[in-house]
Amino acid sequence: MALPQSADVLIVGAGPTGLTCALSLLNQGCSNIVIVDRLQQGINASRAIVIHAATLEALNRIGCAQPVVESGRSVSSVGFLNGGKFYRNSRFDKLAPYTKFPMALINTQTVTEQILERTLRDRGVTVLRPYTAINLKRNERDAQVTDVYFEGGEILQTRCVIGADGARSMVRQVTHVGFTGLDGEDTGEGATTFTQMIIADVTFTEPVRPVTDGLVFALSPDNGCLCVRLPPAPDYPEKEVYRIAAGIPSSLGVPPPSPSTEYVQSLLDAWGTGLFSTPAIISKTIWASRFRTHSALADTFFTHVPVTPGDPSPAGRGGVVILLGDAAHIHPPVGGQGMNLGIRDAISLGSVVAAYLKNEDTSDSAADAPLQQWAIVRRERAMTVIRSVQGLLWVLTIPDKTTWFLGFIPVNLYWLRNIVIAAIARIAWVQKMIAWRLSGLAFSD
Ligand SMILES: Cc1cc2nc3c(=O)[nH]c(=O)nc-3n(C[C@H](O)[C@H](O)[C@H](O)COP(=O)(O)OP(=O)(O)OC[C@H]3O[C@@H](n4cnc5c(N)ncnc54)[C@H](O)[C@@H]3O)c2cc1C
Repeated sequence: MALPQSADVLIVGAGPTGLTCALSLLNQGCSNIVIVDRLQQGINASRAIVIHAATLEALNRIGCAQPVVESGRSVSSVGFLNGGKFYRNSRFDKLAPYTKFPMALINTQTVTEQILERTLRDRGVTVLRPYTAINLKRNERDAQVTDVYFEGGEILQTRCVIGADGARSMVRQVTHVGFTGLDGEDTGEGATTFTQMIIADVTFTEPVRPVTDGLVFALSPDNGCLCVRLPPAPDYPEKEVYRIAAGIPSSLGVPPPSPSTEYVQSLLDAWGTGLFSTPAIISKTIWASRFRTHSALADTFFTHVPVTPGDPSPAGRGGVVILLGDAAHIHPPVGGQGMNLGIRDAISLGSVVAAYLKNEDTSDSAADAPLQQWAIVRRERAMTVIRSVQGLLWVLTIPDKTTWFLGFIPVNLYWLRNIVIAAIARIAWVQKMIAWRLSGLAFSD
């Protein structure tokens, strides 16, 4: 399909956040929108698998929760396997008084994206593929309009560019917005066992019996291994498929880009002991990849197309630009928060952009105020989530090491952590509060 010459809004990137943003804008009555992606088809990599209650509530507001829930598998708890014993540490079923979705929903990102894209098409908007946006410039005749340049030579004029183009965002780069690392990567201090990870979706030779039907994380002194059964999918309906994820300690070197079944099996054997009460021999690796994880936050989620880089004056700025999802914030997948946060950013953005577009004259900076405010609130939210994920990572990677407090009192944080994990498994209120926080319901949206 050909690219039109103009649109009120251009969304660059049709990942989960770009697609959700398009649906949210339609829901607000904005139909003059274009969404493009550089790929011919959606990425066939399952990546995010957990969708939390607050995200389902948000998707429900744009009429998309039901198909996502129906194609997924709800789990009621998350727990740790530690020293051979299973401890349930968060109970999503206890959130029933506060949400229609008292669950952690397991669904692959591929399926979630397919549902969002299909819904968008049913509502009259088709993702235009493959179109790679390469630059943004202020329109020469109208400073409030941005000319977006594409690899094939096309130019699209728009009042609002939404960069939902992932962690290496072109939109962020050409608008000179910094992407500040938050892990101390420069000093190497932030590196953990989970700085490099392998994630794989596998089937087993024989039916396996997992220690829990929920999501479980096997802890060991030097690593952790996650395991959860995925919902049946059209691509592999015949077998039960499990998601396995483990950190790769730096002593093992750099993992292969496409890990073999033998490699994934070796991780499961080394760090997944006890996850199954039956032998777990992998028969097929459906999808596997290595990831380097780190945290970073865009310096702002809202800006203008700069005429002169670094010139913040109204005279030196063009049309509005918003950063969304991984273009604005990234962090390790532990806790399953990245896509959830991006989807909620996108849904909250719809009404703000719709209000902005109603302004006849957007040259006055007062028209920007609600967008500025949205960006400040969402950036603070992202920072809170990143800090929580960093806290969780710290807990998961405490070394089994004794130190001496005041020179004579032995302190071993690893053992303390294990005592806390065991204690939480006995206190229903704490399990509910952890679920409350992880689910996103602790925030207003
Ligand atoms: C292994 C792994 C596991 C994860 N697990 C979870 C989880 O359980 N829960 C969770 O919430 N999150 C999880 N995440 C994070 C989640 O995958 C991301 O947060 C999510 O994909 C971000 O969506 P997005 O739409 O912002 O960006 P992306 O998914 O990266 O999509 C960006 C899109 O933009 C397109 N694009 C890029 N540049 C251009 C351009 N110049 N022109 C046109 N199109 C362009 C790309 O082709 C792509 O389709 C996980 C991530 C990883 C890596």
